[in-house]
Amino acid sequence: MQPGGAAGRVALDLVIEGGWVVDGSGEPRFRADIGVLGGRIAAIGDLHQHIATRRIDARNKLVAPGFIDVHGHDDLMFIQKPGLPWKTSQGVTTVVVGNCGVSASPAPLPHNTAASLALLGDIPLYADMERYLATLESLQPLINVAALVGHANLRLAIMQDPTAEPTPQELQAMQGLLRQSLAAGAVGFSTGLAYEPGCYASQAELEALARVAKEFEALHTSHIRNEGDEVEQAVEEVLSVSRHSGCAMVISHHKCMMNANWGKSARTIANIDTTRAQGTQVAMDIYPYSGSSTILIPERAHRIDRIKITWSTPHPECNGMYLTDIAEQWNCDKEEAARRLLPAGAIYFAMDEQEVQRIFQHPCCMVGSDGLPNDANPHPRLWGTFTRILGRYAREERLVSIEQAVRKITSLPASVYGLAERGQIRLGYWADLVVFDPETVIDRATWDEPTLPSEGIELVAVNGQIVFLSSDAVPTPGIRPGQVLRRQLPA
Ligand SMILES: [Zn+2]
Repeated sequence: MQPGGAAGRVALDLVIEGGWVVDGSGEPRFRADIGVLGGRIAAIGDLHQHIATRRIDARNKLVAPGFIDVHGHDDLMFIQKPGLPWKTSQGVTTVVVGNCGVSASPAPLPHNTAASLALLGDIPLYADMERYLATLESLQPLINVAALVGHANLRLAIMQDPTAEPTPQELQAMQGLLRQSLAAGAVGFSTGLAYEPGCYASQAELEALARVAKEFEALHTSHIRNEGDEVEQAVEEVLSVSRHSGCAMVISHHKCMMNANWGKSARTIANIDTTRAQGTQVAMDIYPYSGSSTILIPERAHRIDRIKITWSTPHPECNGMYLTDIAEQWNCDKEEAARRLLPAGAIYFAMDEQEVQRIFQHPCCMVGSDGLPNDANPHPRLWGTFTRILGRYAREERLVSIEQAVRKITSLPASVYGLAERGQIRLGYWADLVVFDPETVIDRATWDEPTLPSEGIELVAVNGQIVFLSSDAVPTPGIRPGQVLRRQLPA
């Protein structure tokens, strides 16, 4: 807590005064004003005598680093709906896109496609990572964005038959394309081993790619092959890829689906702990709900009792309905109804809330919304993940302290993803800041009303510029202070 700090007597752009600072490190809160100059935190302490262009009263509020959503599917939203209200209204100032094996670049060969690309929407994809990131930069994003390159994209861009095993030449070409994406600034690569065509990849293929990521000190994040009956083997598979390649990894939205598998996370986490103890960098993330959401998979129709349709191209009248009711109306079985709805998306109610909460408490567990902004009737995680963490998991359930909850959504992801000078309130760091009311912060989005904005977030600033104020319904138009966070090449 350096009073005054580097700013001296220079006029500050913004002072947030009188709040309790939860600085992201996990340490207890302290009372201080925060001064911002040129997009960075320029002073921390008693700043009442400083000249400032704008002062914000944060008495009785907490001031935290901006939240980092480690699991987004907003790749094309930065271009299609750049206002991103589902992010700013819950305090998110940085999102990592390109998850679950699917990213906006590189584009598939003309004859190749995959259902999982629907997670992004349907506009043309970008030829390569450089073109995608340069496009984002020229459009000026509202919040900061870091990108992963999708393994499905690598397969679809290179392989003549993406359902096959790659030939040695194809594997080499995929490694080359990954190298090119990482050199352009991708923070790592993601796999979606439960989806086509990721599901056709062998462990050897994953290791070959992870070795390339390791050269760049980049990450592998994985939607693992199975999150149900074979979740333990699926976790072991990706951990083994990391042990063999040395590549750091993140297990995405870790969970155990379907009653028979509840409780298996005790063993998957034991395996993660052992692997970490051996020196391999492993982290994971969750979203704070017991329902999951992705494309509609007809084979799941008889294994999961409650399935809610989030969108359907041939039957938009079914958006928001339960599969059981649709099947009854159509007088067919649930799997047949699901097939007729394709292409479509769904919410599956198949997790144990207690288990989600236990996974969240693990010190290496971060938070990712996995929000699907294209869905007509989205999962409420899109609008409510981070306020739900603060309001329900920290304040109401007391699973962790507010300070630890903030660490999990700020400094921890900044360090895992290598986002330099972000994720903490420290002198010289970028001024990504959130002011929120610890007594009232809460998610409002529900299964029935999934797009209700959260409450209790008072102010959100990205690189020192205010992008959300609770008193303004709409942030000041035209301000787009986000940065494309290209991964720095290792020295
Ligand atoms: Zn996923």
